[in-house]
Amino acid sequence: MLPIDLKGKKAFIAGIGDDQGYGWAIAKALAEAGAEILIGTWTPLVKIFTTSWSAGKFDESRKLSNGNLMEYTKLYALDAAYDKPSDVPQEIKENKRYADAGGYTISEVVDAVEKDFGNVDIFIHALANAPEVKKPLLETSRAGYLAAMSASSYSFVSLVAQFGRIMNAGGAALSLTYLASERVIPGYGGGMSSAKAALESDTRTLAWEAGRKWNLRVNVISAGPLRSRAARAIGSDANKSVNFIDTMIDYSKVNAPLKEKDLEAEEVGYSAAFLCSPLASAISGVTLYVDNGLHAMGLAVDSQAFAPAFSG
Ligand code: NAD
Repeated sequence: MLPIDLKGKKAFIAGIGDDQGYGWAIAKALAEAGAEILIGTWTPLVKIFTTSWSAGKFDESRKLSNGNLMEYTKLYALDAAYDKPSDVPQEIKENKRYADAGGYTISEVVDAVEKDFGNVDIFIHALANAPEVKKPLLETSRAGYLAAMSASSYSFVSLVAQFGRIMNAGGAALSLTYLASERVIPGYGGGMSSAKAALESDTRTLAWEAGRKWNLRVNVISAGPLRSRAARAIGSDANKSVNFIDTMIDYSKVNAPLKEKDLEAEEVGYSAAFLCSPLASAISGVTLYVDNGLHAMGLAVDSQAFAPAFSG
């Protein structure tokens, strides 16, 4: 048997706010492989997440294959849009969901992790945000576009730059992207497609720089559509007739090479565990598609224009 063995490794997963998203699925897969889990949760969600966890709301999703429940060693409040305390605007500092948190900027979180644990082996970036995601690019403001880039792309650069110095040699950093970076996906707006394109390009450059500087590997998974909280927030078209994420899931099931197969979050989790494990020790700078093969398609086989030639 060829195992994914992460026993003795510490993994920091940034971007877990509930049990519905890719960050959760990756944490679970890493825990299944034996890694110790540290979590970074967006500051405004810390209270609801920890309360729900303590109340047992995630117990069903926490179940591992050996019957144990996934545990985390420590959770850090994190706002990845800010690198250091002086970056935080006054109104955010005073916001009631931030006021009690303290220490949630990237440099403060990494310093705290270093103080608490010394080093980590794996860093996962499972977060994105675009305030104008519902707007087409043509209607996106400069502020909205830059906010998407800041929270969704530069956050990865900054987190790798900060975590790099406390990551053990041979460690791995991983983020999540979406096909809209390289193909047009109408509805994925507000600069999010641009942010994902930057994230993929930065993955290659960071693989080179962090590889040479700290002997780290840096990769990105291009995941297929999942009904996460963030994806649900993309919403519907202007007529409210087409829900973005449900349409993407339906489209993928009909048009992907792996036909009529749901994409499970755990399939992304397992791929992440592999990429972060010693089994992937020669893989760096790649975009790995975990999307039932949809990225390979050049046309939609369910288009009326092709019926019935490709219906099989
Ligand atoms: P999710 O809602 O589970 O995760 C997004 C997380 O980002 C949330 O917990 C949110 O609180 C956090 N976040 C937002 N702004 C933040 C900030 N400034 N600082 C810290 N955390 C912040 O949704 P998800 O869809 O699983 O998203 C995880 C990653 O997967 C994202 O990068 C997303 O773009 C990517 N992805 C999602 C899909 C999909 O269909 N759901 C497809 C491909 C890629």
